[in-house]
Amino acid sequence: MKKKILLIYTGGTIGMVKDKKKNTLIPFNFDKLLKAVPEINSEEIYLDNISTKNPIDSSNMNSDNWIEIVSLIENNYDSYDGFVVLHGTDTMAYTASAFSFMLEDLNKAVIFTGSQIPIGARRTDAKENLITAIEIAASGKVNEVSIYFEDQLYKGNRTVKVNSEHFEAFESPNYPILAEAGVNIKYKSTLEKKGDQKLKVHKNCSNDVAILKLFPGIKLSTIEAIIKSVKGIVIESFGAGNASTNPKFTQLLSQAIKDKKIIMNISQCLHGEAVRGQYETNEPFEKAGVICGKDMTTEAAVTKLMFLLGQKLNSAEIKRQLQKNLRGEISN
Ligand code: ASP
Repeated sequence: MKKKILLIYTGGTIGMVKDKKKNTLIPFNFDKLLKAVPEINSEEIYLDNISTKNPIDSSNMNSDNWIEIVSLIENNYDSYDGFVVLHGTDTMAYTASAFSFMLEDLNKAVIFTGSQIPIGARRTDAKENLITAIEIAASGKVNEVSIYFEDQLYKGNRTVKVNSEHFEAFESPNYPILAEAGVNIKYKSTLEKKGDQKLKVHKNCSNDVAILKLFPGIKLSTIEAIIKSVKGIVIESFGAGNASTNPKFTQLLSQAIKDKKIIMNISQCLHGEAVRGQYETNEPFEKAGVICGKDMTTEAAVTKLMFLLGQKLNSAEIKRQLQKNLRGEISN
């Protein structure tokens, strides 16, 4: 039996062409471009493709676009064995993280891929990424949201974009890769096991959030203004989750939490995690009751907060779930 895979084109460099007037890359009709890549067709795989209404550069993504793409997966879920989402690399790690929360009890592959050079260009990296992502989606071995790029399959909510120049654009700093493509595709034991529960799709996400990156000398009034402007805040602190011990900073955090703000602390470092109480400089967060986001990526932390604020949960439940491992996004 041929495996059925649905390709969902959302935009990104992979399907872009040069706008001759402006000399910039813009999204193009992917159907036409696909005809130029006959090698994606395989005897064993039946491939269909659809596009979002308006393919975009992923720097234009927002949660409405996520809902449109998630709905395409939901509406086609029973008719396909797996999904390959073609997406710009700039915000791919955010969308993949968001989808890991929006698609609960997923039992099929949802693999994001894209490229650093358009598919129509001679030196493109798109063909290998696309062909292998399709093969992995059809393998039946992947049952989660992941990113395939330059020979590696990453867990979606553990991935970050680290390079805008090299073909190796992504990294999974705190979680092992899920598969590696060489002569053979080697699947690792880090893959989620297939479950038997029915897919639940969550389409409510809140944008009432901010990411606050601390730096030495940041003004308290800046911190206050950002915290005041939203309901949920991810603070990127220093090293192992540390910040200034200035009592005014602690007071500001305590007051925000009394005002029912949800605040989570993660580290600015790519590798490692925010740790409770290792340094005195972690005390502002502990004293104020800020949640420790441990080794979550910024992408996973902010999209988890958007997802949880979008569900009709009370603050205590949001805080409980933020600390809990929902989809493999945080180490136990
Ligand atoms: N700006 C592009 C995008 O994210 C970059 C890419 O696809 O690599 O849509």
